[in-house]
Amino acid sequence: MPERRIAFMNITKDTAVTLNYKITDPVTGKMLDSGDVAYLHGGYDNIFPKVEAALEGLAAGFAAAVDLAVADAFGERDESLVRVIPKSEFPPGVKVGGQLQGPGSDGRMTVFNVAKIKGAEVHLDGNHPLAGKALKFSAKVTEVRAATPEEIAHKHVHGGHGHHH
Ligand code: ZN
Repeated sequence: MPERRIAFMNITKDTAVTLNYKITDPVTGKMLDSGDVAYLHGGYDNIFPKVEAALEGLAAGFAAAVDLAVADAFGERDESLVRVIPKSEFPPGVKVGGQLQGPGSDGRMTVFNVAKIKGAEVHLDGNHPLAGKALKFSAKVTEVRAATPEEIAHKHVHGGHGHHH
């Protein structure tokens, strides 16, 4: 009989990790976001550092939950990223929930969400929708594999739930 071996790869530096995650409000338990994400493990800033630390050493099938303070999640809200612009400056069809890019307070390109439209005014918010919130991040590890040299060079995971070029 040939020897059969099942290799469980553990999460360590330069592994490509796929997670099924949930982000909830730590107080009310309300679901804020969920989905699948693939990231490159090992300090590449692909995912919250506290989550990365909690996942270190786990294998597929394991789960972890981490409470994130505002500073460990999306940070404090920046009210200078809230802008009110006349609707006449937008192309027709501007809708709440839409997104556009423009320079932020530091001049870098920032994604602004159309937060509300009030009469002739469009209220834009360049903050991440979860900025200013403490979060609970729960994840189930669905896949762990060695990253390819190309993924390590790009500092992100390709294919599936990762990056598509
Ligand atoms: Zn790439």
